[in-house]
Amino acid sequence: MAKERGKSTYQMYNRRLHSSIQARRTLERQFEQALGGNEFHALFQPKVDRKGRIIGAEALARWNSPELGQIPPDQFIPVAESSGLIIPFGREILDLALREWQRCVCAGEGEEKPVLAVNLSPFQFGHPDLVRDIQRALEKTGFDPALLELEITETGIMRDQDEAEKKLLQLNEMGVSIAIDDFGTGYSSLKKIKDFPVGTIKIDKSFLENLNFSRKSSTIINAIIGLSHDLGFSVVAEGVETLDQLEFLQEAGCNIYQGYLFDKPLAIEELASRFTVRYYPVLLNAGS
Ligand code: C2E
Ligand code: MG
Ligand code: MG
Ligand code: MG
Repeated sequence: MAKERGKSTYQMYNRRLHSSIQARRTLERQFEQALGGNEFHALFQPKVDRKGRIIGAEALARWNSPELGQIPPDQFIPVAESSGLIIPFGREILDLALREWQRCVCAGEGEEKPVLAVNLSPFQFGHPDLVRDIQRALEKTGFDPALLELEITETGIMRDQDEAEKKLLQLNEMGVSIAIDDFGTGYSSLKKIKDFPVGTIKIDKSFLENLNFSRKSSTIINAIIGLSHDLGFSVVAEGVETLDQLEFLQEAGCNIYQGYLFDKPLAIEELASRFTVRYYPVLLNAGS
C-alpha cells in the first residue's frame, strides 16, 4: 500500500514537474517571439513628495500576449533572466520608456523636471554592455541623463562589488542617478552601500505591509529612514496603501512616497494629466 501510494505521489509530482517545465518553455518561447513586436508596454507609477507633488515616476513593464493573456512581470522577468532574453527586453523597454517620457512628460517647460526611474535586474546590471546600452539609449532619444534614475536591487550590486562600483561611477559620470530597490530584503548594509555612488534608498514594501502586525517592522523602517538620511541618501517608501502608513512615514521623516494610496501604475497619458492637477489631495495640507 505504502509503496503504491509512494509511487503515485511520485508520478503526480513528476507530472506536475513536467507540466511546469512545459509551461515555462511555452512562456519562454512566447516571450522570445514577443520581442520587437508590440506586446510590451510600460506603465508609470508616480513618486510623490511631502507636499503631494509628483517628482517623478517609475516605469513598470507589462506584457500583453495574444496567446497567453496578461502576464505580470513577477512571472516573465524570471523567465527572461534565466533565458538571457532580459538583455534585449531591457533595451526594448528602456527605449520605449524614454520615448514615452519625452513625448508626454518632458514636453512642458517646468522648473523642476520629473525624473523617470527604470528597473534593472541584477542580470542586466551584471552584463558587460550595460553602460554602453544606457548611453546609446540616451543618445538615440536625446534624453537628458539627469532625468534618468536606475533602480537596482541590493543583490545586483553586491555580487561583484568592484565591478559594480566601476559601473555605478560610469553611470554617475554620465549624469544618471541610482536607487537601491527593495532595500531591506537582501543582506547588504547601508554602510556598504555608502561606498557606492547611490542617491536613493527604496524601502521594500513588505515592511509597510507588516506595520500593523509587528513592532519590529516599524523599528526597522524607522532605523532605515534615520540612518539613510544621516548618510545622505534620499528615501522612498514603496507600497504606501493607507493613510495610517502615510502618517507613520511622515512621522519617521520619510519624504517620498509611492503606492496605491496615490496611484497605481498609469498609462503615460494618464500620468501626464496628473501633472496638470499637480497635487495629491491627501498631502495638500501636510506640513512643509
Ligand atoms: P519593483 O520595482 O519593486 O516595483 C514595485 C511593485 O509593486 C510593482 O509591481 C508595483 O506595481 C507594485 N506596487 C506599487 N504600489 C503598490 C502598493 O501600494 N501595493 C502593492 N501591493 N503593490 C504596489 P509590478 O509592476 O508587478 O512589478 C513587479 C516587479 O517586476 C518590480 O518590482 C520589478 O522588480 C520587476 N519589473 C517591473 N518592470 C520591470 C522592467 O522593466 N525591468 C525589470 N528588470 N524588472 C521589472
Ligand atoms: Mg522598482
Ligand atoms: Mg521595489
Ligand atoms: Mg520588487
